Amino acid sequence: MLQTKKKIRALVFDLDGTLYLSGKAYPKAVETVHQVAKQVPVYYLSNNTSKSPVFYKNRLQRMGLPLAKGAIISALNLALDAIQKEGLQNIYFFANPEVREWFLAQDPSLNLQSSIQDCELVLMAYHNSMDYQELCELSWRLQRKTRFWVTHTDLVCPDSNGSVPDIGSFLSLFKTAYGIEPERSFGKPNPEILKPLLQAYEPQEILFVGDRLYTDFELAKRTGCRFALPLCGETTLQDIENLQKNNEEIPEIIVDQVSDIDFNSLIQGLI
Ligand SMILES: [Mg+2]
Repeated sequence: MLQTKKKIRALVFDLDGTLYLSGKAYPKAVETVHQVAKQVPVYYLSNNTSKSPVFYKNRLQRMGLPLAKGAIISALNLALDAIQKEGLQNIYFFANPEVREWFLAQDPSLNLQSSIQDCELVLMAYHNSMDYQELCELSWRLQRKTRFWVTHTDLVCPDSNGSVPDIGSFLSLFKTAYGIEPERSFGKPNPEILKPLLQAYEPQEILFVGDRLYTDFELAKRTGCRFALPLCGETTLQDIENLQKNNEEIPEIIVDQVSDIDFNSLIQGLI
């Protein structure tokens, strides 16, 4: 057979809605990833910053997913790098306690709960254990024109009972209340998140697998990586038909489940 495509040399998987939902793996997802990891390096890229990379490491290991060093790509690392590059110290980090603790362990010199007066930067992660007082604390700092970064801008997070509001929905709230928008977002679809991988591989050698059009597919389009969309998560066939009706690009590979992707042919450069 004629070889028409580059061989896939690295795989990047989204997590929620792609490999599992509410921590429960989709059928054959774990076995499939395990199988392909014997042939090419596997990375995981989720925008979900409600948990630390350490939590994800333990969860993926518990689920039996293969996990090489550096396999978990997180917007939290990018945010930390940006804070250090800009020499920011006094931050109000709106995040779950476990994520704040992880962040502080990476850089103990940071003050993550700075006062309204001292705050240089508000950093917002997906804080799904917040109470109203914390929302007030965040709002008071934003109104003082403090710099404002978010880890990502997803509108909702999938859950087995239905989706729940994520950072993007809160951004609508702050826009309505104060006319404020974040200056930076680190997660998908910001191509920065794939920079280390794009230094190691050509974009066409990376296959990204994700269930969401405006983050996963958009990142693939912006970086030139190849893309596979499993329909087990957020996107429906109706969404694809709507893209076609509007003459917009559709994902190259569309399958029901991750296990339906022909990884062997992709890795051999046959498709
Ligand atoms: Mg997803």
